Amino acid sequence: MECIFCNIATGKSEAEILFEDENVAAFLDIQPVNYGHTLVVPKKHYDNFLTVPKDELEKLINITQFIAGAVKRSMNADGFNVISNNGDSAGQTVYHFHFHIIPRFTTDFDFKPNFKTYGTGAMREYADQIRTFISKYRNIYDGG
Ligand code: AMP
Ligand code: ZN
Repeated sequence: MECIFCNIATGKSEAEILFEDENVAAFLDIQPVNYGHTLVVPKKHYDNFLTVPKDELEKLINITQFIAGAVKRSMNADGFNVISNNGDSAGQTVYHFHFHIIPRFTTDFDFKPNFKTYGTGAMREYADQIRTFISKYRNIYDGG
């Protein structure tokens, strides 16, 4: 299937490339939340955060840190968001993994989620559900 970010990574489609090496490309988002909004992608195709191999992710996050600093300083931003949307419900529209770097300014806009409140004991229950998964699959993370 055609993938726009694969095409950008191989030079088949145009983009305003800011940085590239053999593994990673960074380019401007075509529909920026703020000017300078940047995407950082692995050149190889992985659908989402969970499917990027650890060694690739390490390179990607290191370059994302470097590019985030460059975007913040060159845009004279007050801060920035580094985010990744995973799945339709999270707003993912391109299924080639990427980090967004969004320069932020004190007066630009608010992300306003509807915050939830944990009822009595619920925090422990949610934590237990997640801990059960973590202990079951921890050997994968540990590399065992
Ligand atoms: P997401 O919704 O997290 O999957 O983000 C996909 C992002 O890719 C969106 O912010 C789009 O504006 C951006 N995008 C889609 N096509 C292109 C393109 N050809 N060049 C640059 N950015 C793109
Ligand atoms: Zn792709």
